[in-house]
Amino acid sequence: MLKLRLFRNLGDQELSFPPEGVAIIGANAQGKSNLLEAIYYLETFRSFRGARVEQLIAFGEDVFRVAGQVVSGNDVGGSPTEVAAAYEGSSRRRKVTIDGAEPERIGDAIGRLGAVIFSPADMGIVNGGPVRRRRFMDVALSLNEEGYLVALQAFRHALAQRNAALRSGQLEAVVRAWDEPLARSAATVMGARRRWVSEWRDAFRGYYEEVSGGDSATMTYVPKVAVDDLPDDGIYGACRNALDVRWAVDLRRKSTSAGPHRDELLLALVDGESAVEAREFGSGGQCRTVALALRLIEGDSIRRARQSAPVLLLDDAFAELDDARRERVLGLMGQDRFGQVIITAPKESDLPLQGDGLPRWGINNGQICA
Ligand code: ATP
Ligand code: MG
Repeated sequence: MLKLRLFRNLGDQELSFPPEGVAIIGANAQGKSNLLEAIYYLETFRSFRGARVEQLIAFGEDVFRVAGQVVSGNDVGGSPTEVAAAYEGSSRRRKVTIDGAEPERIGDAIGRLGAVIFSPADMGIVNGGPVRRRRFMDVALSLNEEGYLVALQAFRHALAQRNAALRSGQLEAVVRAWDEPLARSAATVMGARRRWVSEWRDAFRGYYEEVSGGDSATMTYVPKVAVDDLPDDGIYGACRNALDVRWAVDLRRKSTSAGPHRDELLLALVDGESAVEAREFGSGGQCRTVALALRLIEGDSIRRARQSAPVLLLDDAFAELDDARRERVLGLMGQDRFGQVIITAPKESDLPLQGDGLPRWGINNGQICA
């Protein structure tokens, strides 16, 4: 069940999706991506396209609201969780409720829906700058790991304060009062990133190999502060040490140079003994396959953390894949990895799921017709 009110061009609608899902077919600019954006908003309270929240309000209006219920495998006999979110432009107020109750922090409500979205913009995770790959890790970890988002926010706060003090030429003691909280939160963030990558590295490689049907790829966590052989409780000390060692550099540049804000997730294409960065040398299809493998492990980690299969949202996600890759990735998606499927395409022949048995709905000028 999905209730929409003044979210982009979607107007005022209430939709009941069939339990297996639906394929939504409509011409360009009718609102297909908007609909998936509205659903995924309930997972992260952000636009998956990176739009600012004000842009999600229907033109000329002040408030949008989205509410949805997901019936997951866990709810047999119980009632489904309802996630609702609203945003008011004039007051810049966000409101989120879970089953009618407002959580203490919006961060506490993240990931309650259980959804993964595959979209053309995923390419940017692979061929964009390191910030895109850090954001991918941050979203995956915020959705799945208790305490990660809080640590990340504490880190960002300490970093912003330390940098502001550096820029305004404060005394060393004022700047460095931030070293302790910065290193403390950095250690939590880095430890979690390192654990997550090592936990999912093999699955990532397996997915890439399966979809590509031959070649291989790896993902490696490359932190800015070297912590290779250190246990988790050694990361804090390494961060403090890096801040000491780089003090002169930080002072000169007026910004903090060491920390998880400079981490990289290295995605490499492997051919026998040699490995090259996907970002620099990957073909369109290879980069797309890397992005799909990342989304598949994101789905797996959500399924494991929440113990139910996430909703699968597919927004034109198969562009640039040859037929053989398409078949193989669809095979992977079909194996109970995901729950309900909501897929959009401009026309029937663009649907990657031929003969999938999903009902077809239309969309015209934001109005969805079952
Ligand atoms: P395509 O097949 O090209 O990807 P689509 O069906 O996915 O198209 P969307 O991106 O969902 O299209 O919708 C685009 C339409 O939504 C545009 O015509 C745009 O004018 C409209 N739109 C975007 N933001 C808003 C908004 N805040 N209020 C009203 N309409 C909006
Ligand atoms: Mg679209």
